[in-house]
Amino acid sequence: MAKPTSARLDTLLQHTGMASFDPVTGAAPVALPSMRTSTVRFENLAALDKAQAAKARGERRVTYGRMGMDTHAALEDVFCELEGADRAFLASSGLAAITLAMFSLLDAKDHVLVADCAYGPVRYLDKTVLSRMDIEVSYCHATVAQLQGQLRPNTRMLYVESPGSLLFEMLDIPALASFAHEHGLILAVDNTWGSGYIYRPLDLGADVSIVAGTKYVGGHSDLMLGAVMAKDAGLIKRLGETHYAMGYSISADDAWLALRGARTLPIRMRQSADNALRVCAFLASRTEVERIYHPALPGDPGHALWKRDCTGSNGMLAVELKLSNDQARRFVDGLALFGIGFSWGGFESLVQLVDTSLLQGHGYWRQSGNAVVRLHIGLESPEDLIADIAQALHAATGEINPSVGDT
Ligand SMILES: *Cc1c(COP(=O)(O)O)cnc(C)c1O
Repeated sequence: MAKPTSARLDTLLQHTGMASFDPVTGAAPVALPSMRTSTVRFENLAALDKAQAAKARGERRVTYGRMGMDTHAALEDVFCELEGADRAFLASSGLAAITLAMFSLLDAKDHVLVADCAYGPVRYLDKTVLSRMDIEVSYCHATVAQLQGQLRPNTRMLYVESPGSLLFEMLDIPALASFAHEHGLILAVDNTWGSGYIYRPLDLGADVSIVAGTKYVGGHSDLMLGAVMAKDAGLIKRLGETHYAMGYSISADDAWLALRGARTLPIRMRQSADNALRVCAFLASRTEVERIYHPALPGDPGHALWKRDCTGSNGMLAVELKLSNDQARRFVDGLALFGIGFSWGGFESLVQLVDTSLLQGHGYWRQSGNAVVRLHIGLESPEDLIADIAQALHAATGEINPSVGDT
């Protein structure tokens, strides 16, 4: 069988990380099995010596199970295809992947500039651990103009997320990359939104891309996973050393689930994106809606950047509603097809009432008395989702029955 060649991700995602043919029978399963192991066994010492030597040269060779065998390697290959990276390192969650990138590339007394719209738990990581490690963190609106005044002599990294958490603010990654490199900074990007399929920060000039595989790559709300990708040999070396030294490890079963999820990533993401645009069109027609945050919508301030830098969109959107907090709570509780829960990127629709106090630090947020609701639009029929939102809006704003004084 000839080796398939294509530059198209839809094709590559179906042909990367296949099981190889058995040299004796010439047969192979289509899907790679979950290769669980702790110990790796060698035929003789010469084979072990060969593996050790290759490992010392920086190749991916396994002498023990922590790094995982074929299933892990296949998933790493998929992440490399997705992100246009040379190496991918797996971690047990998206947040663990963020810690891997930071612990690998920052030293004590370094300063990291974090985009104000980055994933909230990064602030918790800063408060509890980075501060203790004497790593300075400051937050700012991630535009070149704003960053200029924020540099310190010890600034070493610019850490951003695009589109940003909660309000999906598009950042200009190529401009941020030029700025970072002019000032000798590493640009690390949380690319969970794009997951490599619709947005590729490394191609746009970023040095490190981080993905929570928990979301779209896994895609079925049944696993936790993170990955860190890079192209530069020096960065890869530091990531590899830290990954090994800190014992980052994931189970073969989770790698297998993620590999399985990746096969349908294109079709799931496209369908969620289509459904989300249908929901946006409905929301735009409602008087309760003040604003929709979704970069694929013409009219979103990030739309031009989205058009330039992304090849698609996904099911995430936020909507600012002219509702009081009580009404917004009734709206969320009134939804029947949207699970109330954190996370996103699975097959199902989800809703989260955004705590607007968390938006105070986002330079993109305009203070208002409105409620903000974040939706993940899943694979349900968009007609049903729209009908559900319509009835919940009615339930939230309709006349409340006067209390009949239950005793
Ligand atoms: C969910 C998420 C993470 C963290 O991933 P976990 O697997 O939940 O730890 C990081 N960044 C973004 C943007 C996320 O949405």
